[in-house]
Amino acid sequence: MPDEKVDFFSVVARRKLGVSYEWCCCKYEAVGPDFTIEGGIPKTLKAGPDKGKKSFRNVRLLKCVVTRTDLMIAHNQYEANTGLCWQCQGSKVAFDRECERCGGTGEAPKLEVG
Ligand SMILES: [Zn+2]
Repeated sequence: MPDEKVDFFSVVARRKLGVSYEWCCCKYEAVGPDFTIEGGIPKTLKAGPDKGKKSFRNVRLLKCVVTRTDLMIAHNQYEANTGLCWQCQGSKVAFDRECERCGGTGEAPKLEVG
């Protein structure tokens, strides 16, 4: 799903829990400066009004602590791998306005060395 934005909470949790890329977060809870998240591998609904949507009903959920440092590392890795600004992920827009991190270029800001 290339159009979907990266959820960095899921990225961190997948690495920490050693689960597959299909695993994603469904609950987020702020605990002090960090987060406790819960997630699992969602099922795709095969019938009903929400057909095709993902559901976490009856899915075994795992909890994972995600710290601010974890997120920062994930952001840095994303920028190093893609060359895109992690905030807007190349879309140039974050929070419905021009992305402040990259100044609307969509590119990862150059790291200051030294
Ligand atoms: Zn940006």
